[in-house]
Amino acid sequence: MKKLGLNPKEIKYTLVTHGHSDHYGGSQFIKDKYSPDAKIAMNLVDKRFLSVMPHETKFGFTRPKVDMGLEDGQLIKLGDTTVQILLTPGHTPGSVSMIVPVTDNGTLRKNAEDVIARLPKPVPRNKER
Ligand SMILES: [Zn+2]
Repeated sequence: MKKLGLNPKEIKYTLVTHGHSDHYGGSQFIKDKYSPDAKIAMNLVDKRFLSVMPHETKFGFTRPKVDMGLEDGQLIKLGDTTVQILLTPGHTPGSVSMIVPVTDNGTLRKNAEDVIARLPKPVPRNKER
């Protein structure tokens, strides 16, 4: 982060999209080592989900102490940007996705981050004509 001109002590939130260790795995480490005032946030359904997924412990990541819950429709202000939280259960019961406004050559666009969803059934292939 320092190479990019960012100060890790200025981290306000770590937004965890779901309760799998490859997503929450470094959050407590970063908070403890670099940004003790940052809040670790995830959907509270997945906070409970962490306690009932014993297979997640085999990867050796520290489960984070979650400071705040993420809810459907919640807006989180990060400087001059506001991120919208969307509850998108499927991958885990409490998975969330985020709509992040970005600017592309001066044009405002909305970028969806970590949209993970399980389709209800396989998508049919188009038939050859
Ligand atoms: Zn996952």
